[in-house]
Amino acid sequence: MIRLNRRVASLKASSTMAAEMRARELKAAGQDVISLAAGEPDFDTPQRIKHAALQALERGQTKYTPSSGTVELKEAIRLKLARSAGLDYPVAQIMASAGGKQAACNVIATLFDEGDEVILPTPIWVSFAAMVQLSGAEPKALPTEQSDGFLLDPQALGRAITARTRGIVINSPCNPTGAVYPAKRLAALARVFLEAELWVVCDDAYADIVYDLPEPHLFAVEPRLAQRGVVVNTFSKSYAMTGWRLGFAAGPREVIAAAARLQGQNSGNPCSITQAAGIEALTGPQDDVAAMVAEFRRRRDLVARRVRELPGFRLPEVPAGAFYVFPEVSQLLGRTFRGTKISDGDALAGLILEEARVAVVGGNDFGAANHIRLSYAAPLSELEEAFDRIGRLTAQILG
Ligand code: GLU
Repeated sequence: MIRLNRRVASLKASSTMAAEMRARELKAAGQDVISLAAGEPDFDTPQRIKHAALQALERGQTKYTPSSGTVELKEAIRLKLARSAGLDYPVAQIMASAGGKQAACNVIATLFDEGDEVILPTPIWVSFAAMVQLSGAEPKALPTEQSDGFLLDPQALGRAITARTRGIVINSPCNPTGAVYPAKRLAALARVFLEAELWVVCDDAYADIVYDLPEPHLFAVEPRLAQRGVVVNTFSKSYAMTGWRLGFAAGPREVIAAAARLQGQNSGNPCSITQAAGIEALTGPQDDVAAMVAEFRRRRDLVARRVRELPGFRLPEVPAGAFYVFPEVSQLLGRTFRGTKISDGDALAGLILEEARVAVVGGNDFGAANHIRLSYAAPLSELEEAFDRIGRLTAQILG
């Protein structure tokens, strides 16, 4: 057997990507599969953004840029952070990366080290634990309660902090629960973060996709945290740009400079043409974003209703943001259906794909084994059909 680097050898494949790729394989093989797996908007990238990319290509913007991105893109990101979140970051404290994932991974690798613990309030997006492990630090899952809206409890956090705890990841709206932290909870958590001198990585990937009144950003609620925290974000969700790979990070100058050095060694600049498209995405008219969010809201309303009607599914709260539902499915677990033991949410997700031809993601890698995640980044007609299929299956399972 070939000896691989220990941290890389222990890495699991991303379960969100794996579920989506499996659905695509089945579709390519002619099977009638509906994918509610990956968090990937089904909308096309807005025309104005594609046009900016074509113009950049025509102008010959095909060369290296600074590895942390062009000044023009960083200036557009600076304005975006000020406009949407009221955060004030000079361009020198901003870096662009090939996707939010790369930004987050480079920031986590920069901040944390062997011997550190990083708290992940679960359920949380599957890749954070892997990123923390790659940094050499240890991910520490801290479960939140569905009955508390999947929000981190400041007292539980206080109890979980040890002498080794160095950081935490906060994701609001949350992938996979869609929970949005209200200002009051953020203020209570901020006190604990400051007291324990934690580094806070704020994943804002879904910050533009909220359905109620927007809540303030954690670093606007407690500006002192901006000295001990980093914002990471992506163009993928708000602008339907998943394949373009563009994301960014903003934080203290020293941290961003170090993360940019890391990026300069491990990959270099995000695609030059994508960067030009990203400038247009942020600085052009934002009506397309509003239209996509309005459509997501229609789907959210339908999906919340349909999930609640599914035999064996529990969804106490309608998610306030992102485009996922994360129902609890305990009632279906422990049963056997056509020879398959439904031991957890992952087994149920496998069965739903096999028997109902709908791809969803099991909850295990999000840190919640009794749940499954369904993305509603799919057209209404597909969502209706998917829920009909899942409903027939779950009724049979419960017999
Ligand atoms: N972040 C999206 C998801 O959770 C896309 C896939 C991935 O990168 O995990 O489905």
